[in-house]
Amino acid sequence: MRKYLHALLVIAATLGAACYEPVSDDSEGTRERTVQPGSRTAPAANTEIQPSATPGTDFSKQSETMTDQSTPQVKGFRNNVAQMLSREGLSIDSVADSSSPVERRVFEEYGAVYLTKAKPPSKAMFENDSEVLAFQSAAGISSENIGGVTIELQPAAMNALKAAVDEARSKGLSITPRDGADAGKRSYSKTLELWKSRFEPALKHWKQKGRLDDAEIARLKGLPIKQQVAEVLKHENQGIFFNTFFNNSILYSVAAPGTSQHLSMLAFDVTEFADKRVQDVLANHGWFRTVQNDAPHFTYLGHRKSDLNDLGLKSVSKKDGVFWIPNV
Ligand SMILES: [Zn+2]
Repeated sequence: MRKYLHALLVIAATLGAACYEPVSDDSEGTRERTVQPGSRTAPAANTEIQPSATPGTDFSKQSETMTDQSTPQVKGFRNNVAQMLSREGLSIDSVADSSSPVERRVFEEYGAVYLTKAKPPSKAMFENDSEVLAFQSAAGISSENIGGVTIELQPAAMNALKAAVDEARSKGLSITPRDGADAGKRSYSKTLELWKSRFEPALKHWKQKGRLDDAEIARLKGLPIKQQVAEVLKHENQGIFFNTFFNNSILYSVAAPGTSQHLSMLAFDVTEFADKRVQDVLANHGWFRTVQNDAPHFTYLGHRKSDLNDLGLKSVSKKDGVFWIPNV
């Protein structure tokens, strides 16, 4: 049981970390190296503040600009997410399977994206290309040249990003994509390819070491991806690691397939992420960091910073700055 809990903590610390290549496991160290369960701090005292806005605000009619006067109408993260999802005809249960530890933790740790004013992901864990393509098509894709690279995002996210780029420019700053077009939209196949680039070499390595036999390797390869993720994490609890150097969890190296905010076109990886002024400009336009330990990764929420607490998020300060995560 203890090992199982440890696996959950590893998932909690890393699943949904969505940048894949830009922040690799074994080099720059912009991700935290250690699991920090204690980072799930006690709820902020101001989370339960009674919102003061007039009742009956229709979130679906809010402007995408940051000039609207919307204020959250309900309390707590889950209630606000439920309200945002209801615009799409979705519920929390329909996007995240509460019987799946992986999906439950993805939702609780990285679910800030469900508060977006754009189209929230329809699943915590997309399972194939067709699911992702259907979502992306329904959301609409806006394509623009950002910093010399063609970036694709949801239209509302793109409009806000362009406004941020303009504001940055006016202040003598720049906001550019980190590592090419993958800074924006990604495909399910891309996330699967990245997973396999760690998973398959690790199988070979551990076979050579005598820790995995052919039968187990065949079994792991044949599993549906969700079960494969779960089984890989079980092996990691026995010291059979699947990251690049076989010395740490694969989830410190790549996110689990299907869980990235990039699939929903609501994430953008920023080269200048470490500049506090750049963080502030992005925040002015509704872009916040919501994936702990993934410092270059910004998420389009579309809300004002002053509303995030009431929406059920809490700010967590890490060595790379502030992240906004569900207060659950
Ligand atoms: Zn990212």
